[in-house]
Amino acid sequence: MTAMDWRRAAKYALMVDFIKGFGLGFRYFARPKATLNYPHEKGPLSPRFRGEHALRRYPNGEERCIACKLCEAICPAQAITIDAEPRDDGSRRTTRYDIDMTKCIYCGFCQEACPVDAIVEGPNFEFATETREELFYDKERLLANGDRWEAEIARNLEIDAPYR
Ligand code: SF4
Ligand code: SF4
Repeated sequence: MTAMDWRRAAKYALMVDFIKGFGLGFRYFARPKATLNYPHEKGPLSPRFRGEHALRRYPNGEERCIACKLCEAICPAQAITIDAEPRDDGSRRTTRYDIDMTKCIYCGFCQEACPVDAIVEGPNFEFATETREELFYDKERLLANGDRWEAEIARNLEIDAPYR
């Protein structure tokens, strides 16, 4: 046997690789974990994160949207469909506000175009569905999203306001 063969045999016999691997495992055992135990743990999100859409209301419950249709016009995916009518008090409001979330590319243009911060992309990213139909959002669904996420959305808009 050559010297190289002896060295290799000694390495096997003394379990050098095993001990090295064990040492490496121990070294990382007490360090902070780089992985998260999702969905029980979640990482931080930027205030600019563009997640699920929501239609917001004013604190008195009135819809913010004034049916100007800027969001519909700017949407590059043509995912937004709006119908509008004047109310009895003369204000203009949507009678239909649909977003086809299967078309949406989450570009955020609708939010940027909106003059009253009505349509926004909120922080929710957990809205996977089993069917396409569930991703055809109507006004009721979007307003419900706004009601659910208003606190987080308002805080994110406030943090981002100096940079807009
Ligand atoms: S995020 Fe972009 S693609 Fe999606 S609805 Fe808004 S403008 Fe359209
Ligand atoms: S969501 Fe904003 S941009 Fe779109 S129609 Fe309403 S007010 Fe206009």
